[in-house]
Amino acid sequence: MSSRTNKPGHLFVISAPSGAGKTTLCKALCERFPDIRFSISYTSRPSRADETDGVDYYFITKETFIKGIENGKWAEWAEVHGNFYGTSSELLNRTLSAGHDVLLDIDVQGAMQIVRNYPDSVTIFIMPPSPEILRVRLESRSTDSSDVIATRLLNAEKEMAEKDRYRHIIVNDRLPEAIAELISIVEKYHR
Ligand code: 5GP
Repeated sequence: MSSRTNKPGHLFVISAPSGAGKTTLCKALCERFPDIRFSISYTSRPSRADETDGVDYYFITKETFIKGIENGKWAEWAEVHGNFYGTSSELLNRTLSAGHDVLLDIDVQGAMQIVRNYPDSVTIFIMPPSPEILRVRLESRSTDSSDVIATRLLNAEKEMAEKDRYRHIIVNDRLPEAIAELISIVEKYHR
């Protein structure tokens, strides 16, 4: 249990190229530490069939998102694969001030904004074992077209080039080991 004191919570930031297994790792982390608050992002991308508004994301229009940029609503925001994604400053600050640890699952551009604004945040980058394995993983997701896969691979290369800007790097070669490594990093900070 997190002891709620006057101390603000820790901010954990996880990034990874798509296909590196980030969603599975974040899920395992939240199961191990149920009191860590997973930050629900806002996005202008349409919801997928298995997603719920207010659970997976807050789905908003592009216009509303842009208004949020103008009004300084976002603690960080980025355009990823043609869609806008952002974290509400107000929600984030309120949760941290209440003493809760928070987990952000965001892209590299957003993570760098968070580091500037929250220099104590604990940044973690998840690497796939190799570019070949990443390609195979992305191709095996039958939902994505070859164009989408090509864009994601290009994006993955750009993201992986930034990995040294993170405090911790985990190579997701074998899942149980990657989960154990992630948990041991978080344990060092989590109250
Ligand atoms: P997806 O559309 O597959 O759910 O997410 C695509 C990418 O957007 C992922 O890399 C995810 O981490 C990133 N993302 C999700 N929410 C946010 C956010 O609030 N801010 C930023 N910068 N990236 C986000």
